[in-house]
Amino acid sequence: MEIQPARHSHVLDPFVDRYAARTAGMTASEIRALFAVASRPEVVSLAGGMPNISGLPLDVVGGAISDLVATQGPVAMQYGSGQGVPELREQICDVMRLEGIEASADDVVVTVGSQQAVDLVTRVFCDPGDVVICEAPSYVGALGVFRSYQCEVVHADMDAHGLVPEALRQAIRATKAAGKRIKFLYTIPNFHNPAGVTLSAERRPEILEICQSEGILILEDNPYGLLGFDREPMRAMRADAADGVIYLGSFSKTFAPGFRVGWALAPASVREKLVLAQESATLCPPQFSQMAISAYLAQHDWQGQIKQFREMYRERRDAMTSALSDLMPAAVRWNVPDGGFYVWLTLPPGINAKAMLPRAVTARVAYVPGTAFFSDGFGSSAMRLSYCYPTPDRIREGVRRLAGVLEAEIELHSTFGTGTDTAELRLGSRGVENPGTDVH
Ligand code: PMP
Repeated sequence: MEIQPARHSHVLDPFVDRYAARTAGMTASEIRALFAVASRPEVVSLAGGMPNISGLPLDVVGGAISDLVATQGPVAMQYGSGQGVPELREQICDVMRLEGIEASADDVVVTVGSQQAVDLVTRVFCDPGDVVICEAPSYVGALGVFRSYQCEVVHADMDAHGLVPEALRQAIRATKAAGKRIKFLYTIPNFHNPAGVTLSAERRPEILEICQSEGILILEDNPYGLLGFDREPMRAMRADAADGVIYLGSFSKTFAPGFRVGWALAPASVREKLVLAQESATLCPPQFSQMAISAYLAQHDWQGQIKQFREMYRERRDAMTSALSDLMPAAVRWNVPDGGFYVWLTLPPGINAKAMLPRAVTARVAYVPGTAFFSDGFGSSAMRLSYCYPTPDRIREGVRRLAGVLEAEIELHSTFGTGTDTAELRLGSRGVENPGTDVH
């Protein structure tokens, strides 16, 4: 199977001279470009981060939706509040209480997935050239938002315990020394996408303290926090710093992404700005989706459902990590996540995950090259594997195919020695090669 080269539409684009400067940063993510090939049935996709919603009780959801139409249809199908449905905002506070957050529904803004919350926060805070500090690596969808607002991303290293406080201090120092303005730290503290690590309880107060003393807001993006395999949810940073943290949540991973409902919990003044930004972006978040989710939460054992999701994802994590242990060449390393969807793989020096991808797809397996998760070209000798969607058998088969491709690549490299590029050397020296626990 051949991957078709990307079509460069701008070559013939008659509007090319008229686009806003911000569109220069709007390029298709490496994940998106992959979707077309990775979704062919013969390819085992370890690439996308699609939640596996096959375990959802569709009869319960269908019943709730048909009741909603029958009893509250005219309201559900109308425009609604720019801030979101009040009852759902109350229920969101119940969800956040599981992570130690005591919040008022007044401070919650419902958004079109937490993706839109990242967009609105950036819109409200960032001018072109402002700096957002992100973990290294970071969520590709957030990097795309920051680029589209012409922000500069400065990465700070992680290790097995999440963001490294000293790396954050260094990033702040260097950015300030360069005379640039830092608008916020964007962080995914739990079951990180893509690194799979969790910020330790010990580090959380330290990260808060650093940001507070430097006057830097924290954007705590937490779509996976309730999907831990072995323990209760960690206490959110927002639980200990109501004024310094904007917390983002989502129903995409704990219920279903198709409703496109997420939220931001923000200090009151910021919340007002977010509502105005939301109104100009969408008038209001989808009323129907919000009411459907509200009915589901009210009528169904949603916490029991999350428990089932956790068991399913744990089984898939096990399938992936045991297949990796059994099949991968010795020089390949990875972490064992204890929640969420992702494993971060580091390849031997000189093996370039992006260059290798066409050969992997020819062998009918797909992954996301590490470079997608850095704004600065790092990550070429890393890749993200996700275990959330395929069955355990398919996961094992995908890892078997990937191991075969890697073996051939390593063999070729040891024969012809293609050299190590500077990005890999810098990546290694940054210590982000194995951000996970239990490195193999
Ligand atoms: N943040 C992170 C870290 C994510 O992984 C995702 C989805 N992959 C999102 C935000 C956006 O999720 P949604 O818009 O579906 O809530």
